[in-house]
Amino acid sequence: MSSSLPRPLPVALVGIGKIARDQHVPALAGSDAFALAACVSRSGGIEGIETHATLEALLDARPDIPAVSLCMPPVPRFAAARAAIAAGKHVMLEKPPGATIAEVLRLRQMADGAGVTLFASWHSRMAGGVAPAKAWLADKRVRRIRIDWKEDVRKWHPGQEWIWEAGGLGVFDPGINALSILTEICPGLLHLTAATLTFPENRDTPIAADLTFTGGDDVEATAGFDWRQEGDDIWQIEVETDAGPLRLTEGGSRLFIDGAEQEAGTLGEYPALYARFDELIAGRHSDTDAAPLIHVADAFMLGRRVAGAAFHD
Ligand code: NAP
Repeated sequence: MSSSLPRPLPVALVGIGKIARDQHVPALAGSDAFALAACVSRSGGIEGIETHATLEALLDARPDIPAVSLCMPPVPRFAAARAAIAAGKHVMLEKPPGATIAEVLRLRQMADGAGVTLFASWHSRMAGGVAPAKAWLADKRVRRIRIDWKEDVRKWHPGQEWIWEAGGLGVFDPGINALSILTEICPGLLHLTAATLTFPENRDTPIAADLTFTGGDDVEATAGFDWRQEGDDIWQIEVETDAGPLRLTEGGSRLFIDGAEQEAGTLGEYPALYARFDELIAGRHSDTDAAPLIHVADAFMLGRRVAGAAFHD
């Protein structure tokens, strides 16, 4: 951390919903690098933490807080990020980093111009099996990849209307986590060639998606995302290589090579994200990889749309 900044660094959380409460608050409570100094919430905030009703009110009242972490849904996030960067704050973005790719590029230009850190976080890349999977795959030849990301939307997103509205991504909200792992462990290998998206007849975003990618003449990848899963969640990536199969399960937290479980990291996804944000601020860098969002945008551009049964929460 730069010597001119206090340590722990005061940070404000903006948008206090499921992910802020489940992950950001505990990760910050356990962080030596950051201290949760305030929050912005239209609905109550966090007990015991100074709360402002709007970001503008926070920026006016607390010029001493140098960093903000934005946990609201993607569509309203751009305006908040723009205001925070304009006020000279370092900014961490929940995934996906924008509702569009152009937003992410624009925010990066603004952050570079203002000399602040912008961190487009991808929490699934911090799952314990992902870094060792990437290291193992680095010198292997990939032949085939199969992704299955299937969960019950009623269990994970109860009553969340924004995920069904334009820009909310639908099943790509969890599916982009798989794509964030894919683009981390096999960087630059694949591009999308076909997709079928199933939209409930009463919703603006898909409930299921089947994707096909190619990595050239001899590499094929397919993915199935589905929010209609009953029973156990499946968050799995299988990679066939010239040196045997690799499998990431449980959202990337467990790694198997040739069927044998490998040692995986234990830090936890959100503690690791805040450690990375700390490193980026200290090094005066930004990290705004939009590769997972590019695959999602391609699926919306290229995908065949199929009407499915109406969905009611
Ligand atoms: P959520 O439970 O709906 O919470 C989002 C919060 O953002 C709301 O409680 C609200 O907080 C604020 N908000 C909502 N609409 C807003 C608007 N139009 N303008 C400003 N603020 C608004 O959603 P979530 O599940 O936490 O997801 C938020 C982001 O985190 C998404 O991008 C999602 O992909 C990502 N994420 C979620 C999970 C998960 O398991 N749920 C996991 C990883 C990442 P206030 O009432 O305090 O203003």
